[in-house]
Amino acid sequence: MLVGVPKEIKNHEYRIGMTPAGVKELVGRGHQVLVQHQGGVAVGFSDEDYRQAGAEVVDSAEEIFARSEMIVKVKEPQPIECTMLREGQTLFTYLHLAPDPGQTELLLASGATCIAYETVTDANRGLPLLAPMSEVAGRMSIQEGAYCLEKAQGGSGMLMGGVPGVEAANVLVIGGGVVGLNAARIAMGMGAKVTIMDRSLPRLKSIDELYGDRLTTLYSTTDAIEKQLALADVVIGAVLIPGAAAPKLVTREMLKLMKPGSVLVDVAIDQGGCFETSKATTHENPTYIVDGIIHYCVANMPGGVARTSTLALTNATLPYVLALADKGPCQAMAEDNHLLNGLNVYRGMVTVEAVAQALGYAY
Ligand code: NAD
Repeated sequence: MLVGVPKEIKNHEYRIGMTPAGVKELVGRGHQVLVQHQGGVAVGFSDEDYRQAGAEVVDSAEEIFARSEMIVKVKEPQPIECTMLREGQTLFTYLHLAPDPGQTELLLASGATCIAYETVTDANRGLPLLAPMSEVAGRMSIQEGAYCLEKAQGGSGMLMGGVPGVEAANVLVIGGGVVGLNAARIAMGMGAKVTIMDRSLPRLKSIDELYGDRLTTLYSTTDAIEKQLALADVVIGAVLIPGAAAPKLVTREMLKLMKPGSVLVDVAIDQGGCFETSKATTHENPTYIVDGIIHYCVANMPGGVARTSTLALTNATLPYVLALADKGPCQAMAEDNHLLNGLNVYRGMVTVEAVAQALGYAY
């Protein structure tokens, strides 16, 4: 199969859909790979690295879209990219169609087969191509929280891990899923005192089994959150209710319970945020202060560590890319229901119920 990897064109997107290691795997199986000139340079992969792995480096996205049977990307195709897609071509990338009628319309018109990373499932009812970005965001949330505690950022001036004779910071993680667990892990590693809350008792049980008394698990209620807010130096918002906006678990009124200079990191901001005072920010301007509390609410946290994110994402996508290339998309999806769950648009039809419902298409 001829697989094309264009340079991402969405604003401030530095990731790329395939690393030289992925190219080497595909070429080793007899496939051809086209990579756009300078496509990976922002994350440390030069054109020469791709050539050495066996790719053909081409100058333009037009050439990639015109020649490739399958396009592998990171972000949803921008309108100019959608118009270059054609019938019989496969697109494998993040799509997030439900809130995006414009993109959906263009993909339907293209006649292409569009498989979305975010709806591919696994045997544990997880989302294996979303999880790596949650791992990145969870780990990063503590690094950002620690930085925000510094005086120059408006923080209380606490060092996350303390020093001998001086208390470490208290970190409250609300939501014990992929983001929450990764946040807790890094906070513990920095020497903070960690409390993690969830609404799922099985989840709390498994965290307890994993970490024992290195952290505290608490069932998440408004009362418990209020009590913990008074103690916390950093609060990580890491809840998810699949398919719904994040619940507002900390109201503006509740900020009064917190110590001045404490920090809220709302990782759930991409679902609307779980703190009432959250509003989405960017890597250029990541924080703002409400009632003395620092808010960090970057909606695309993994973009800030684009190299790690590229490697984490492509490690997860590569087995699917190989299956799609080796077997052809139809056979690969026929043999793997979890990959089939990724199919969002097929030859002019919406093939995911949630997207069809959200946008009013027949399903
Ligand atoms: P997940 O499904 O693995 O975990 C979510 C957890 O929240 C679950 O364990 C669930 O039981 C728990 N939960 C639900 N309601 C709760 C409540 N009221 N109190 C406490 N816990 C509750 O999801 P995840 O992969 O960890 O993602 C968490 C959030 O982070 C999502 O909104 C996701 O979109 C977001 N995210 C944001 C970024 C970013 O860059 N900002 C990156 C990755 C993920």
